[in-house]
Amino acid sequence: MTTATHGNLFILSSPSGAGKSSLIKALLTKHQDIKMSVSHTTRGPRPGENNGEHYHFVSEADFNALILADDFFEWAKVFDNYYGTSKAAVASQLDAGLDVFLDIDWQGAQQVRKLVPDVKTIFILPPSQQELENRLNGRGQDSQEVIAKRMAQAKSESSHYNEFDYVLVNDDFDTTLSQLEHIVIAARMELKAQQTRHGALITDLLR
Ligand code: 5GP
Repeated sequence: MTTATHGNLFILSSPSGAGKSSLIKALLTKHQDIKMSVSHTTRGPRPGENNGEHYHFVSEADFNALILADDFFEWAKVFDNYYGTSKAAVASQLDAGLDVFLDIDWQGAQQVRKLVPDVKTIFILPPSQQELENRLNGRGQDSQEVIAKRMAQAKSESSHYNEFDYVLVNDDFDTTLSQLEHIVIAARMELKAQQTRHGALITDLLR
């Protein structure tokens, strides 16, 4: 007999251009028992982004009200905008036994580590400087100045890679996705979770 366990909390961080969004999308499509927390942000939506799906897009006044109401699990100013994870987005899913991923930056990761010491943190690096530059170049519509700024931001974000439990180099998409899945599966087999899940079996075996 098995017993329901509490879900695991994961953080996935990377510089933009490392392929994090595509990896998360594929992970969620393959695994219905993994959920992504939808953050609040003060930045405007990009083309194709929907309110409530990619982010909750809010004004700075609304964001400040959420801070004052103590509704955030963590929040940070990332470059030019504010981003935060609401407590409500995380707790109910974990309680329901689902694994939850947070796509947050290193500042948010530092805050969550203090609150949830057994959070599993993963950092994704691009395979090379050149590849990162190609990816940040996008369709080549941005100025050299904008691209140089993105490269500097990527370097600043990447400098925090050594604060994370796992480091993945996203060279081949399928390989990196598989590595992510293995981290999730290994976390499910940790002692405490297995003691809860297989309590009756263990009691029986040790009788
Ligand atoms: P973007 O604007 O490109 O969607 O995200 C910019 C950065 O903000 C990314 O590094 C992303 O991980 C981070 N971010 C997104 N949501 C949150 C959040 O709720 N909290 C924190 N601390 N960072 C976030």
